[in-house]
Amino acid sequence: MKSGFIAIVGRPNAGKSTLLNTIMQQKLAIISNKPQTTRNNIQGILTDEDSQIIFIDTPGIHKPHHELGRTLNKSAYSSLQDVDVIYYMVDASVPFGSGEEFVLNQIKNKSENIFLLLNKVDLLNREKVMKLILQWQKRGDFKEIFPISALEEFNVEALLKTTKEYLMDGPMYFDPETICDHDQNFLISELIREKVIYRTEEEIPHSVAVVIENRDETDNKILIQAMIIVEKSSQKGIIIGKQGKMITSIRLDAQKELRLILGKRVELDLYVRVEENWRNKEAKIHQFGIGEMDE
Ligand code: GDP
Ligand code: MG
Repeated sequence: MKSGFIAIVGRPNAGKSTLLNTIMQQKLAIISNKPQTTRNNIQGILTDEDSQIIFIDTPGIHKPHHELGRTLNKSAYSSLQDVDVIYYMVDASVPFGSGEEFVLNQIKNKSENIFLLLNKVDLLNREKVMKLILQWQKRGDFKEIFPISALEEFNVEALLKTTKEYLMDGPMYFDPETICDHDQNFLISELIREKVIYRTEEEIPHSVAVVIENRDETDNKILIQAMIIVEKSSQKGIIIGKQGKMITSIRLDAQKELRLILGKRVELDLYVRVEENWRNKEAKIHQFGIGEMDE
């Protein structure tokens, strides 16, 4: 039995969550085209006959602007220790710049086994990809370089095959049935948060948290009560919308998808509460389950 831990790192929007979802073929992480949607180190666990790979999806590494940014960075770095392989993921469709250089320098000496994943090659032609590989070879000491498309599942199989060659003989850390070590409430709250962000577009930034307050299950349905927490009363107004239209759309979107995931009819109650400036209060950040406090 071979087993090991893989951290997926890279700038926000590189495609880390998409890759994890493609690998797990299930909606584990929350995908959004806005940076910084993934906050916790969501683990996907891939078990087959002879191996178990545990994936850690790190929140994007970037220069912090406020408290929340600092917490994100901290948990991104802490997950780099003790992993067997780092997948360093780059959005190959955007030019190399100082932001990318910053991340590259942060991870450079963190592991022996860094795989460079040039993602989104579906947006590029062959020549461009070849050119990028040559350029990236000079930037760091990568064990492997894989041009991939996380979205179109290009080269992901090959990546997994090679990854297994880097794993050591080890125990099965998790029950083979386990695909994700977060509890279901976490997945539910992330899903609701995703719907809030989609529906409200630019108006609601990432200053929104969702807490599951109550969950009741009967034979044919699941009742869920969830609290959406925002920073300003103006944001509360946006989320509720004219005559409650917005929150109804959010609720219906979430209900529909929760039904698919939970396999039962779902009745969702949503509430909105204002917690001023919660992003800058570290205690609150942890209360909402984001980041790791003890280090
Ligand atoms: P993360 O912030 O690194 O977790 O990035 P996400 O996985 O949330 O992806 C950010 C955006 O890039 C989303 O809109 C994805 O659909 C898109 N994306 C991810 N992988 C690919 C890819 O291989 N090709 C293309 N064209 N888009 C991708
Ligand atoms: Mg993500």
